[in-house]
Amino acid sequence: MQQEILLQLSPKDAADPAAIKEAIALHTGKAPLAVTGYHLLKRSIDARKRNVLINLKVNAFIDEPFFNTPLPHFTFETLKADAKRVVIVGAGPAGLFAALELIQRGIKPIILERGKDVRERRRDLASLNKDGILNEESNYCFGEGGAGTYSDGKLYTRSSKRGSVDKVLQLLVQFGADPSILYTAHPHIGTNKLPKIIQQIREQIIACGGEVHFNQKVTDFIISNEIITSVITASEEKFEAADVILATGHSAKDIYLLLEEKKILIEPKPFALGVRIEHPQALIDSIQYHCPINIQRDTHLPPASYSLVEQVNGRGVFSFCMCPGGIIATASTSQKELVVNGWSPSKRNNSFANSGMVAQVDILAAQKYMKGEKLKDKSETNSNLQLHYFQESVEQKAYAAGGGYFIAPAQRMTDFVNRKSSSTLPETSYLRGVNPINLNEVLPSFIHESLRGAFIAFGKKMKGYYTEEAILIAPESRTSSSVRIPRDPETLQHPQIKNLYPCAEGAGYAGGIVSAAMDGQRVASVL
Ligand SMILES: Cc1cc2nc3c(=O)[nH]c(=O)nc-3n(C[C@H](O)[C@H](O)[C@H](O)COP(=O)(O)OP(=O)(O)OC[C@H]3O[C@@H](n4cnc5c(N)ncnc54)[C@H](O)[C@@H]3O)c2cc1C
Repeated sequence: MQQEILLQLSPKDAADPAAIKEAIALHTGKAPLAVTGYHLLKRSIDARKRNVLINLKVNAFIDEPFFNTPLPHFTFETLKADAKRVVIVGAGPAGLFAALELIQRGIKPIILERGKDVRERRRDLASLNKDGILNEESNYCFGEGGAGTYSDGKLYTRSSKRGSVDKVLQLLVQFGADPSILYTAHPHIGTNKLPKIIQQIREQIIACGGEVHFNQKVTDFIISNEIITSVITASEEKFEAADVILATGHSAKDIYLLLEEKKILIEPKPFALGVRIEHPQALIDSIQYHCPINIQRDTHLPPASYSLVEQVNGRGVFSFCMCPGGIIATASTSQKELVVNGWSPSKRNNSFANSGMVAQVDILAAQKYMKGEKLKDKSETNSNLQLHYFQESVEQKAYAAGGGYFIAPAQRMTDFVNRKSSSTLPETSYLRGVNPINLNEVLPSFIHESLRGAFIAFGKKMKGYYTEEAILIAPESRTSSSVRIPRDPETLQHPQIKNLYPCAEGAGYAGGIVSAAMDGQRVASVL
Protein backbone atom coordinates (compact mmCIF):
# COMPACT_ATOMS: atom_id res chain seq x y z
CA MET A 1 0.00 0.00 0.00
CA GLN A 2 1.10 3.58 -0.66
CA GLN A 3 -0.13 6.36 1.59
CA GLU A 4 0.35 10.13 1.72
CA ILE A 5 1.22 11.16 5.28
CA LEU A 6 1.93 14.48 7.01
CA LEU A 7 4.62 14.36 9.68
CA GLN A 8 6.02 16.96 12.08
CA LEU A 9 9.56 16.17 13.15
CA SER A 10 12.46 17.86 14.87
CA PRO A 11 14.99 19.35 12.42
CA LYS A 12 17.43 16.55 13.32
CA ASP A 13 14.92 13.73 12.72
CA ALA A 14 13.67 15.33 9.52
CA ALA A 15 17.21 15.07 8.16
CA ASP A 16 17.53 11.38 9.05
CA PRO A 17 15.86 8.81 6.70
CA ALA A 18 15.74 6.15 9.46
CA ALA A 19 13.96 8.55 11.81
CA ILE A 20 11.46 9.44 9.06
CA LYS A 21 10.70 5.75 8.48
CA GLU A 22 10.20 5.29 12.22
CA ALA A 23 7.81 8.23 12.31
CA ILE A 24 5.83 6.73 9.38
CA ALA A 25 5.57 3.42 11.25
CA LEU A 26 4.36 5.21 14.38
CA HIS A 27 1.85 7.25 12.39
CA THR A 28 0.37 4.21 10.59
CA GLY A 29 0.59 1.80 13.53
CA LYS A 30 2.72 -0.57 11.45
CA ALA A 31 5.93 -2.34 12.41
CA PRO A 32 9.04 -0.37 11.33
CA LEU A 33 10.02 -3.15 8.92
CA ALA A 34 6.68 -2.80 7.11
CA VAL A 35 7.76 0.67 5.94
CA THR A 36 9.88 -0.11 2.87
CA GLY A 37 10.55 3.49 1.81
CA TYR A 38 9.06 6.89 1.05
CA HIS A 39 9.17 9.81 -1.34
CA LEU A 40 9.36 13.38 0.00
CA LEU A 41 6.55 15.44 -1.51
CA LYS A 42 6.84 18.70 0.49
CA ARG A 43 9.19 20.05 3.15
CA SER A 44 8.61 23.26 5.10
CA ILE A 45 9.71 24.83 8.38
CA ASP A 46 7.21 25.62 11.13
CA ALA A 47 8.93 28.22 13.33
CA ARG A 48 5.82 29.64 14.98
CA LYS A 49 6.50 27.99 18.33
CA ARG A 50 9.62 27.92 20.48
CA ASN A 51 10.38 24.38 19.28
CA VAL A 52 11.00 24.73 15.59
CA LEU A 53 9.57 21.77 13.65
CA ILE A 54 9.82 20.50 10.11
CA ASN A 55 6.62 19.62 8.27
CA LEU A 56 7.05 16.75 5.87
CA LYS A 57 4.54 15.39 3.38
CA VAL A 58 5.63 11.93 2.26
CA ASN A 59 4.32 9.17 0.06
CA ALA A 60 5.02 6.12 2.19
CA PHE A 61 5.35 2.53 0.90
CA ILE A 62 3.92 0.11 3.45
CA ASP A 63 3.89 -3.68 3.10
CA GLU A 64 4.94 -3.43 -0.53
CA PRO A 65 8.32 -3.13 -2.25
CA PHE A 66 9.60 0.44 -2.54
CA PHE A 67 10.40 1.75 -6.00
CA ASN A 68 11.88 5.02 -7.19
CA THR A 69 9.68 7.16 -9.41
CA PRO A 70 11.86 8.51 -12.22
CA LEU A 71 11.99 12.30 -12.43
CA PRO A 72 10.12 13.75 -15.43
CA HIS A 73 12.38 14.01 -18.47
CA PHE A 74 11.71 16.38 -21.36
CA THR A 75 12.99 15.50 -24.82
CA PHE A 76 14.40 18.05 -27.24
CA GLU A 77 14.68 16.91 -30.84
CA THR A 78 16.89 18.25 -33.62
CA LEU A 79 15.11 20.99 -35.56
CA LYS A 80 14.33 20.58 -39.26
CA ALA A 81 16.36 22.70 -41.70
CA ASP A 82 13.24 24.58 -42.78
CA ALA A 83 11.92 25.15 -39.26
CA LYS A 84 10.18 28.49 -38.62
CA ARG A 85 12.65 31.06 -37.19
CA VAL A 86 11.88 33.11 -34.11
CA VAL A 87 14.22 35.78 -32.74
CA ILE A 88 14.35 36.02 -28.94
CA VAL A 89 15.91 39.24 -27.66
CA GLY A 90 17.47 38.51 -24.26
CA ALA A 91 18.92 35.33 -22.73
CA GLY A 92 17.40 35.72 -19.27
CA PRO A 93 15.12 33.06 -17.75
CA ALA A 94 12.29 34.18 -20.08
CA GLY A 95 14.40 33.99 -23.24
CA LEU A 96 16.01 30.65 -22.38
CA PHE A 97 12.78 28.93 -21.34
CA ALA A 98 10.99 30.37 -24.39
CA ALA A 99 13.75 28.84 -26.54
CA LEU A 100 13.34 25.39 -24.95
CA GLU A 101 9.59 25.55 -25.45
CA LEU A 102 10.00 26.61 -29.10
CA ILE A 103 12.31 23.66 -29.76
CA GLN A 104 9.69 21.31 -28.32
CA ARG A 105 7.28 22.81 -30.83
CA GLY A 106 9.67 22.34 -33.75
CA ILE A 107 10.48 26.08 -34.05
CA LYS A 108 14.04 27.42 -34.33
CA PRO A 109 15.00 29.96 -31.62
CA ILE A 110 17.65 32.56 -32.43
CA ILE A 111 18.68 34.20 -29.16
CA LEU A 112 20.37 37.61 -29.30
CA GLU A 113 22.01 38.62 -26.03
CA ARG A 114 23.79 41.94 -25.48
CA GLY A 115 26.05 40.50 -22.77
CA LYS A 116 28.66 37.77 -22.58
CA ASP A 117 28.44 34.08 -21.73
CA VAL A 118 28.26 33.12 -18.04
CA ARG A 119 31.97 32.43 -17.74
CA GLU A 120 33.23 35.68 -19.28
CA ARG A 121 30.57 37.60 -17.42
CA ARG A 122 32.16 36.55 -14.13
CA ARG A 123 35.31 38.58 -14.97
CA ASP A 124 33.26 41.74 -15.42
CA LEU A 125 31.58 41.16 -12.07
CA ALA A 126 35.01 40.76 -10.46
CA SER A 127 36.23 44.10 -11.81
CA LEU A 128 33.00 45.79 -10.74
CA ASN A 129 33.26 44.38 -7.21
CA LYS A 130 37.01 44.97 -6.89
CA ASP A 131 37.63 48.25 -8.70
CA GLY A 132 34.19 49.77 -9.22
CA ILE A 133 34.51 49.49 -13.01
CA LEU A 134 31.15 48.81 -14.65
CA ASN A 135 30.78 47.19 -18.06
CA GLU A 136 27.41 48.48 -19.24
CA GLU A 137 26.83 45.35 -21.35
CA SER A 138 28.02 42.72 -18.87
CA ASN A 139 27.05 42.99 -15.21
CA TYR A 140 24.65 41.57 -12.60
CA CYS A 141 21.70 42.23 -14.94
CA PHE A 142 23.10 41.75 -18.45
CA GLY A 143 24.68 38.62 -19.90
CA GLU A 144 23.82 34.95 -20.30
CA GLY A 145 21.07 33.88 -17.88
CA GLY A 146 20.04 37.51 -17.38
CA ALA A 147 19.52 38.97 -13.93
CA GLY A 148 18.81 35.49 -12.57
CA THR A 149 22.31 34.02 -13.02
CA TYR A 150 24.32 35.67 -10.26
CA SER A 151 21.35 35.86 -7.91
CA ASP A 152 20.18 33.99 -4.85
CA GLY A 153 18.27 31.75 -7.23
CA LYS A 154 15.15 31.79 -5.10
CA LEU A 155 12.49 29.90 -6.98
CA TYR A 156 9.34 31.14 -5.29
CA THR A 157 6.42 32.50 -7.17
CA ARG A 158 2.95 33.62 -6.22
CA SER A 159 1.63 31.98 -9.38
CA SER A 160 -1.03 29.37 -8.81
CA LYS A 161 -0.42 27.73 -12.20
CA ARG A 162 1.07 24.64 -10.59
CA GLY A 163 1.61 22.76 -13.87
CA SER A 164 3.71 25.56 -15.34
CA VAL A 165 5.67 26.10 -12.11
CA ASP A 166 6.40 22.37 -11.93
CA LYS A 167 7.63 22.30 -15.52
CA VAL A 168 10.11 25.14 -14.85
CA LEU A 169 11.42 23.41 -11.71
CA GLN A 170 11.60 20.01 -13.43
CA LEU A 171 13.55 21.52 -16.33
CA LEU A 172 15.96 23.18 -13.90
CA VAL A 173 16.54 19.75 -12.30
CA GLN A 174 17.01 18.17 -15.74
CA PHE A 175 19.73 20.76 -16.44
CA GLY A 176 21.52 20.18 -13.15
CA ALA A 177 19.65 21.70 -10.20
CA ASP A 178 19.30 19.66 -7.02
CA PRO A 179 16.05 17.61 -7.08
CA SER A 180 15.20 18.95 -3.60
CA ILE A 181 13.87 22.12 -5.32
CA LEU A 182 10.90 19.97 -6.36
CA TYR A 183 9.66 19.47 -2.78
CA THR A 184 11.16 22.28 -0.68
CA ALA A 185 8.62 24.97 0.23
CA HIS A 186 11.04 27.83 -0.50
CA PRO A 187 13.56 26.40 -2.95
CA HIS A 188 16.71 28.22 -3.97
CA ILE A 189 19.75 27.33 -6.09
CA GLY A 190 22.54 29.81 -5.29
CA THR A 191 24.92 31.96 -7.34
CA ASN A 192 27.66 29.32 -7.45
CA LYS A 193 25.38 26.67 -9.01
CA LEU A 194 23.29 28.71 -11.44
CA PRO A 195 25.94 29.36 -14.15
CA LYS A 196 26.44 25.64 -14.85
CA ILE A 197 22.67 25.12 -15.23
CA ILE A 198 22.39 28.10 -17.59
CA GLN A 199 25.31 26.78 -19.65
CA GLN A 200 23.64 23.33 -19.96
CA ILE A 201 20.44 24.98 -21.19
CA ARG A 202 22.43 26.90 -23.82
CA GLU A 203 24.22 23.72 -24.93
CA GLN A 204 20.85 21.94 -25.32
CA ILE A 205 19.46 24.80 -27.44
CA ILE A 206 22.51 24.74 -29.73
CA ALA A 207 22.58 20.91 -29.93
CA CYS A 208 19.04 20.98 -31.33
CA GLY A 209 19.95 23.55 -34.00
CA GLY A 210 18.94 26.73 -32.18
CA GLU A 211 21.29 29.72 -32.18
CA VAL A 212 22.66 31.74 -29.26
CA HIS A 213 24.58 34.93 -30.12
CA PHE A 214 26.41 36.88 -27.40
CA ASN A 215 27.59 40.51 -27.65
CA GLN A 216 24.60 41.19 -29.91
CA LYS A 217 22.69 44.15 -28.57
CA VAL A 218 19.46 44.78 -30.47
CA THR A 219 19.32 48.46 -31.36
CA ASP A 220 16.55 48.65 -33.94
CA PHE A 221 13.44 46.92 -35.21
CA ILE A 222 12.52 46.72 -38.89
CA ILE A 223 8.79 47.16 -39.17
CA SER A 224 6.83 47.27 -42.36
CA ASN A 225 3.05 47.70 -42.52
CA GLU A 226 2.94 47.35 -38.74
CA ILE A 227 4.57 43.90 -38.90
CA ILE A 228 8.01 43.34 -37.39
CA THR A 229 10.20 41.46 -39.86
CA SER A 230 13.71 41.67 -38.40
CA VAL A 231 15.94 43.25 -35.79
CA ILE A 232 19.25 45.08 -36.16
CA THR A 233 22.08 44.79 -33.67
CA ALA A 234 24.79 47.25 -32.59
CA SER A 235 27.23 45.46 -34.92
CA GLU A 236 24.81 46.31 -37.76
CA GLU A 237 23.78 42.72 -38.36
CA LYS A 238 20.24 42.00 -39.43
CA PHE A 239 18.33 38.98 -38.07
CA GLU A 240 15.14 38.11 -39.92
CA ALA A 241 12.38 36.17 -38.21
CA ALA A 242 8.75 35.17 -38.44
CA ASP A 243 8.23 36.43 -34.86
CA VAL A 244 10.21 38.42 -32.30
CA ILE A 245 10.01 37.72 -28.56
CA LEU A 246 11.15 40.78 -26.61
CA ALA A 247 12.48 39.46 -23.28
CA THR A 248 14.98 42.17 -22.38
CA GLY A 249 14.33 42.48 -18.62
CA HIS A 250 13.59 45.57 -16.53
CA SER A 251 17.01 47.21 -16.95
CA ALA A 252 17.09 47.54 -20.75
CA LYS A 253 16.29 51.25 -20.76
CA ASP A 254 17.54 51.63 -24.34
CA ILE A 255 14.76 49.29 -25.48
CA TYR A 256 12.13 51.47 -23.78
CA LEU A 257 13.70 54.56 -25.40
CA LEU A 258 13.70 52.83 -28.79
CA LEU A 259 10.03 51.86 -28.48
CA GLU A 260 9.12 55.41 -27.41
CA GLU A 261 11.14 56.91 -30.25
CA LYS A 262 9.46 54.62 -32.79
CA LYS A 263 6.06 55.56 -31.30
CA ILE A 264 5.39 51.95 -30.36
CA LEU A 265 2.96 51.98 -27.45
CA ILE A 266 4.41 51.66 -23.92
CA GLU A 267 2.89 52.72 -20.60
CA PRO A 268 4.28 53.86 -17.23
CA LYS A 269 4.04 51.05 -14.66
CA PRO A 270 4.04 51.59 -10.88
CA PHE A 271 6.83 49.73 -9.09
CA ALA A 272 8.51 49.88 -5.67
CA LEU A 273 11.69 51.55 -4.44
CA GLY A 274 13.63 51.74 -1.20
CA VAL A 275 16.78 50.38 0.38
CA ARG A 276 18.53 47.09 1.05
CA ILE A 277 18.69 46.32 4.75
CA GLU A 278 21.33 44.08 6.28
CA HIS A 279 21.43 42.45 9.73
CA PRO A 280 23.84 39.90 11.17
CA GLN A 281 22.45 36.49 10.16
CA ALA A 282 22.82 35.30 13.77
CA LEU A 283 20.38 38.01 14.86
CA ILE A 284 17.76 36.95 12.29
CA ASP A 285 18.27 33.30 13.29
CA SER A 286 17.78 34.16 16.95
CA ILE A 287 14.55 36.07 16.19
CA GLN A 288 13.05 33.52 13.83
CA TYR A 289 14.19 30.34 15.61
CA HIS A 290 13.73 31.71 19.15
CA CYS A 291 17.29 30.96 20.25
CA PRO A 292 19.75 33.16 22.16
CA ILE A 293 21.84 35.28 19.80
CA ASN A 294 25.12 33.97 21.18
CA ILE A 295 24.14 30.33 20.56
CA GLN A 296 24.38 29.06 17.02
CA ARG A 297 21.12 27.87 15.43
CA ASP A 298 20.39 24.13 15.19
CA THR A 299 22.78 22.89 12.50
CA HIS A 300 19.88 21.07 10.80
CA LEU A 301 18.10 24.35 10.16
CA PRO A 302 18.97 26.63 7.25
CA PRO A 303 19.88 30.31 7.86
CA ALA A 304 16.55 31.94 8.72
CA SER A 305 14.65 34.18 6.33
CA TYR A 306 11.73 36.56 6.82
CA SER A 307 8.99 38.27 4.89
CA LEU A 308 7.44 41.52 6.13
CA VAL A 309 4.68 43.76 4.87
CA GLU A 310 3.00 46.89 6.28
CA GLN A 311 0.69 49.67 5.09
CA VAL A 312 1.98 53.12 6.07
CA ASN A 313 -0.39 56.02 5.33
CA GLY A 314 -1.99 54.02 2.55
CA ARG A 315 1.33 53.06 0.93
CA GLY A 316 2.49 49.44 0.89
CA VAL A 317 5.96 48.72 2.27
CA PHE A 318 7.35 45.22 1.95
CA SER A 319 10.49 43.13 2.14
CA PHE A 320 11.72 42.04 -1.28
CA CYS A 321 14.10 39.31 -2.43
CA MET A 322 15.39 38.43 1.04
CA CYS A 323 18.80 36.72 0.94
CA PRO A 324 19.76 34.75 4.06
CA GLY A 325 23.54 34.30 4.33
CA GLY A 326 23.90 36.67 1.39
CA ILE A 327 25.91 39.48 -0.13
CA ILE A 328 24.73 42.91 -1.27
CA ALA A 329 25.75 43.55 -4.87
CA THR A 330 25.97 46.48 -7.27
CA ALA A 331 23.20 45.78 -9.79
CA SER A 332 23.82 48.95 -11.84
CA THR A 333 23.70 48.89 -15.63
CA SER A 334 24.73 52.50 -16.36
CA GLN A 335 27.65 54.64 -15.28
CA LYS A 336 26.93 57.06 -12.46
CA GLU A 337 23.71 55.27 -11.48
CA LEU A 338 23.68 53.18 -8.35
CA VAL A 339 21.39 50.19 -7.83
CA VAL A 340 21.80 47.52 -5.17
CA ASN A 341 20.38 44.02 -4.92
CA GLY A 342 21.33 40.80 -3.11
CA TRP A 343 22.52 37.27 -3.82
CA SER A 344 23.53 34.19 -1.85
CA PRO A 345 25.69 31.14 -2.46
CA SER A 346 23.87 27.77 -2.37
CA LYS A 347 24.89 27.18 1.26
CA ARG A 348 23.82 30.67 2.26
CA ASN A 349 26.81 30.64 4.58
CA ASN A 350 27.72 34.30 4.68
CA SER A 351 27.32 35.95 8.09
CA PHE A 352 24.81 38.60 6.94
CA ALA A 353 21.09 38.53 6.10
CA ASN A 354 19.99 41.14 3.56
CA SER A 355 16.67 42.08 2.05
CA GLY A 356 15.17 44.74 -0.13
CA MET A 357 12.81 46.99 1.87
CA VAL A 358 10.69 48.94 -0.55
CA ALA A 359 7.66 51.23 -0.74
CA GLN A 360 5.19 51.43 -3.61
CA VAL A 361 5.72 54.23 -6.10
CA ASP A 362 2.60 55.66 -7.70
CA ILE A 363 2.56 58.04 -10.64
CA LEU A 364 1.28 61.08 -8.70
CA ALA A 365 3.90 60.83 -5.94
CA ALA A 366 6.65 60.34 -8.53
CA GLN A 367 5.46 63.38 -10.53
CA LYS A 368 5.44 65.54 -7.39
CA TYR A 369 8.98 64.46 -6.56
CA MET A 370 10.22 65.13 -10.09
CA LYS A 371 8.73 68.62 -10.08
CA GLY A 372 10.44 69.32 -6.75
CA GLU A 373 13.71 68.10 -8.25
CA LYS A 374 13.24 70.56 -11.14
CA LEU A 375 13.01 67.69 -13.59
CA LYS A 376 9.73 69.01 -14.92
CA ASP A 377 10.19 67.99 -18.53
CA LYS A 378 10.68 64.37 -17.44
CA SER A 379 7.68 64.34 -15.13
CA GLU A 380 5.10 65.31 -17.72
CA THR A 381 1.91 63.38 -17.37
CA ASN A 382 1.97 62.30 -20.99
CA SER A 383 5.46 60.80 -20.80
CA ASN A 384 5.34 57.02 -20.89
CA LEU A 385 8.80 57.01 -19.38
CA GLN A 386 8.00 59.21 -16.39
CA LEU A 387 8.46 56.44 -13.81
CA HIS A 388 11.62 55.33 -15.54
CA TYR A 389 13.00 58.89 -15.22
CA PHE A 390 11.99 58.94 -11.56
CA GLN A 391 13.91 55.69 -10.97
CA GLU A 392 16.92 57.01 -12.88
CA SER A 393 16.94 60.26 -10.92
CA VAL A 394 17.08 58.44 -7.54
CA GLU A 395 19.83 56.13 -8.83
CA GLN A 396 21.92 59.10 -10.00
CA LYS A 397 21.48 60.89 -6.68
CA ALA A 398 22.55 57.76 -4.79
CA TYR A 399 25.64 57.35 -6.96
CA ALA A 400 26.70 60.95 -6.32
CA ALA A 401 25.99 60.63 -2.58
CA GLY A 402 28.17 57.53 -2.35
CA GLY A 403 31.08 59.47 -3.82
CA GLY A 404 31.69 57.43 -6.99
CA TYR A 405 32.98 54.01 -8.02
CA PHE A 406 29.67 52.52 -6.85
CA ILE A 407 30.40 53.17 -3.18
CA ALA A 408 26.95 53.32 -1.64
CA PRO A 409 25.29 55.81 0.68
CA ALA A 410 24.29 54.08 3.92
CA GLN A 411 22.84 54.73 7.36
CA ARG A 412 22.10 52.77 10.52
CA MET A 413 18.45 51.71 10.70
CA THR A 414 17.86 53.49 14.03
CA ASP A 415 19.51 56.70 12.80
CA PHE A 416 17.36 56.59 9.65
CA VAL A 417 14.21 56.40 11.77
CA ASN A 418 15.45 59.15 14.12
CA ARG A 419 16.64 61.34 11.19
CA LYS A 420 20.16 61.37 12.64
CA SER A 421 23.50 61.07 10.86
CA SER A 422 25.38 57.84 11.51
CA SER A 423 28.84 58.63 12.85
CA THR A 424 29.89 55.02 12.27
CA LEU A 425 28.40 52.22 10.22
CA PRO A 426 28.12 48.50 11.03
CA GLU A 427 30.15 45.98 9.07
CA THR A 428 28.51 45.08 5.75
CA SER A 429 28.81 42.53 2.96
CA TYR A 430 28.58 45.27 0.30
CA LEU A 431 31.92 44.91 -1.45
CA ARG A 432 32.25 48.41 -2.89
CA GLY A 433 32.07 49.96 0.55
CA VAL A 434 29.68 52.45 2.10
CA ASN A 435 29.61 56.14 2.91
CA PRO A 436 27.55 57.41 5.90
CA ILE A 437 24.85 59.70 4.48
CA ASN A 438 21.44 60.78 5.74
CA LEU A 439 19.33 58.78 3.33
CA ASN A 440 16.60 61.40 3.39
CA GLU A 441 19.00 63.34 1.13
CA VAL A 442 18.86 60.50 -1.41
CA LEU A 443 15.38 59.02 -1.17
CA PRO A 444 12.19 60.88 -2.09
CA SER A 445 10.44 62.00 1.11
CA PHE A 446 7.36 59.80 0.51
CA ILE A 447 9.63 56.75 0.35
CA HIS A 448 11.64 57.85 3.39
CA GLU A 449 8.53 58.47 5.48
CA SER A 450 6.91 55.16 4.48
CA LEU A 451 10.05 53.21 5.32
CA ARG A 452 10.42 54.98 8.68
CA GLY A 453 6.90 54.02 9.69
CA ALA A 454 7.33 50.47 8.49
CA PHE A 455 10.64 49.91 10.30
CA ILE A 456 9.02 50.81 13.64
CA ALA A 457 6.14 48.41 12.87
CA PHE A 458 8.51 45.64 11.75
CA GLY A 459 10.44 46.01 15.03
CA LYS A 460 7.21 45.20 16.87
CA LYS A 461 6.43 42.21 14.65
CA MET A 462 9.96 40.77 14.90
CA LYS A 463 11.47 41.66 18.30
CA GLY A 464 15.09 42.67 17.76
CA TYR A 465 14.70 43.52 14.06
CA TYR A 466 14.71 47.26 14.73
CA THR A 467 18.31 47.70 15.81
CA GLU A 468 21.33 49.94 15.40
CA GLU A 469 23.18 46.86 14.19
CA ALA A 470 21.21 46.97 10.94
CA ILE A 471 22.52 48.99 7.99
CA LEU A 472 20.46 50.47 5.16
CA ILE A 473 22.08 50.78 1.75
CA ALA A 474 20.42 52.77 -1.02
CA PRO A 475 18.80 52.38 -3.43
CA GLU A 476 16.92 49.17 -4.11
CA SER A 477 15.24 50.56 -7.19
CA ARG A 478 14.79 47.76 -9.74
CA THR A 479 12.12 45.69 -8.05
CA SER A 480 10.13 45.44 -11.25
CA SER A 481 9.78 47.27 -14.51
CA SER A 482 8.83 50.97 -14.49
CA VAL A 483 7.33 50.52 -17.96
CA ARG A 484 4.73 48.14 -19.35
CA ILE A 485 4.87 47.05 -22.99
CA PRO A 486 1.24 46.18 -23.71
CA ARG A 487 0.15 42.97 -25.38
CA ASP A 488 -3.12 41.41 -26.43
CA PRO A 489 -4.29 39.04 -23.66
CA GLU A 490 -5.18 36.31 -26.16
CA THR A 491 -2.55 36.51 -28.92
CA LEU A 492 0.16 37.98 -26.62
CA GLN A 493 1.21 40.23 -29.52
CA HIS A 494 1.81 43.94 -29.18
CA PRO A 495 -1.51 45.66 -29.99
CA GLN A 496 0.11 47.82 -32.72
CA ILE A 497 2.90 45.65 -34.10
CA LYS A 498 2.13 42.18 -35.40
CA ASN A 499 4.54 39.34 -34.60
CA LEU A 500 6.14 41.32 -31.76
CA TYR A 501 5.71 39.51 -28.43
CA PRO A 502 6.54 41.55 -25.29
CA CYS A 503 7.59 39.04 -22.66
CA ALA A 504 8.28 38.66 -18.92
CA GLU A 505 9.76 41.16 -16.47
CA GLY A 506 10.85 43.91 -18.85
CA ALA A 507 7.38 44.09 -20.38
CA GLY A 508 5.66 43.99 -16.98
CA TYR A 509 4.34 40.40 -17.05
CA ALA A 510 6.62 38.69 -14.54
CA GLY A 511 8.69 39.31 -11.43
CA GLY A 512 11.33 36.77 -10.53
CA ILE A 513 13.06 33.84 -12.14
CA VAL A 514 10.20 31.33 -12.15
CA SER A 515 7.47 33.69 -13.33
CA ALA A 516 9.78 35.06 -16.06
CA ALA A 517 10.57 31.52 -17.23
CA MET A 518 6.84 30.68 -17.19
CA ASP A 519 6.01 33.76 -19.26
CA GLY A 520 8.72 32.77 -21.75
CA GLN A 521 7.09 29.35 -22.08
CA ARG A 522 3.64 30.91 -22.38
CA VAL A 523 4.63 33.25 -25.20
CA ALA A 524 6.45 30.44 -27.02
CA SER A 525 3.38 28.24 -26.74
CA VAL A 526 1.26 30.62 -28.87
CA LEU A 527 3.73 30.81 -31.78
C1 LIG B 1 21.33 40.42 -7.97
C2 LIG B 1 19.95 39.90 -8.31
C3 LIG B 1 19.39 38.89 -7.52
C4 LIG B 1 18.14 38.37 -7.81
N1 LIG B 1 17.67 37.33 -7.06
C5 LIG B 1 16.53 36.71 -7.43
C6 LIG B 1 16.09 35.55 -6.76
O1 LIG B 1 16.73 35.02 -5.85
N2 LIG B 1 14.92 34.98 -7.18
C7 LIG B 1 14.17 35.51 -8.19
O2 LIG B 1 13.11 34.95 -8.53
N3 LIG B 1 14.56 36.61 -8.84
C8 LIG B 1 15.72 37.22 -8.49
N4 LIG B 1 16.14 38.34 -9.16
C9 LIG B 1 15.26 38.86 -10.23
C10 LIG B 1 15.33 37.95 -11.45
O3 LIG B 1 16.64 37.76 -11.80
C11 LIG B 1 14.52 38.53 -12.59
O4 LIG B 1 13.19 38.67 -12.14
C12 LIG B 1 14.53 37.64 -13.83
O5 LIG B 1 15.84 37.36 -14.21
C13 LIG B 1 13.77 38.29 -14.98
O6 LIG B 1 13.89 37.49 -16.11
P1 LIG B 1 13.75 38.06 -17.60
O7 LIG B 1 14.16 36.96 -18.49
O8 LIG B 1 12.42 38.67 -17.75
O9 LIG B 1 14.80 39.26 -17.70
P2 LIG B 1 16.35 39.32 -17.39
O10 LIG B 1 16.77 38.23 -16.50
O11 LIG B 1 16.61 40.71 -16.96
O12 LIG B 1 17.02 39.04 -18.80
C14 LIG B 1 16.99 39.97 -19.84
C15 LIG B 1 18.17 39.72 -20.76
O13 LIG B 1 18.02 40.54 -21.91
C16 LIG B 1 19.28 41.05 -22.28
N5 LIG B 1 19.07 42.28 -23.04
C17 LIG B 1 18.61 43.47 -22.59
N6 LIG B 1 18.54 44.37 -23.60
C18 LIG B 1 18.96 43.73 -24.71
C19 LIG B 1 19.13 44.15 -26.05
N7 LIG B 1 18.84 45.39 -26.45
N8 LIG B 1 19.62 43.24 -26.94
C20 LIG B 1 19.95 41.98 -26.54
N9 LIG B 1 19.81 41.55 -25.27
C21 LIG B 1 19.31 42.41 -24.36
C22 LIG B 1 19.98 41.29 -20.95
O14 LIG B 1 21.37 41.32 -21.10
C23 LIG B 1 19.51 40.09 -20.14
O15 LIG B 1 20.39 39.02 -20.22
C24 LIG B 1 17.40 38.89 -8.90
C25 LIG B 1 17.94 39.92 -9.68
C26 LIG B 1 19.20 40.42 -9.39
C27 LIG B 1 19.78 41.52 -10.25
